[in-house]
Amino acid sequence: MERKLKAGLFSFTGDEGCVITFLEILNYKLKDWNGRVEWQAARVLRKKSSLEGLDVAFVEGAISNEKELEKLMEIRKNAKKVVAIGTCAINGSPSNHRNSFDEDKKREIKHILKRFNHMPSVEPIGKYVKVDAEVPGCPIIEQKFVEVMEQYIKEFGVE
Ligand code: SF4
Repeated sequence: MERKLKAGLFSFTGDEGCVITFLEILNYKLKDWNGRVEWQAARVLRKKSSLEGLDVAFVEGAISNEKELEKLMEIRKNAKKVVAIGTCAINGSPSNHRNSFDEDKKREIKHILKRFNHMPSVEPIGKYVKVDAEVPGCPIIEQKFVEVMEQYIKEFGVE
């Protein structure tokens, strides 16, 4: 059976603008990637979420609660490569605005953070796991996403 790149797309804290851009990319790359890429985890494509044998995990969003952190660790454990897509995943911004709130504001939102099991700060994924590549931009730069995908298609020996 022909080898396909097993890819996943995951979203954490952000506005999913990068996922929307990903869908725009598929408008012109879907046909080309169809025979070479198997999306085995991508909520936006209504794929069942399987991490087993994942080659590349594209991760959007920052980490703001324990549940996200657990999922991120699980993704890292399973994926051979992890790619941070968008500035939220790369450096936390703009999803990390609450990190710079003054003490009064932080006190004001404390009960909300507790209620939703949020962590004291919002952090980029690189704070917790090794990141192999980045796709910059807010939202992501389309061309850069395509380049990273093509690079892994080659690296994993998919023709
Ligand atoms: S990087 Fe920008 S577009 Fe992407 S999820 Fe964050 S806020 Fe949205």
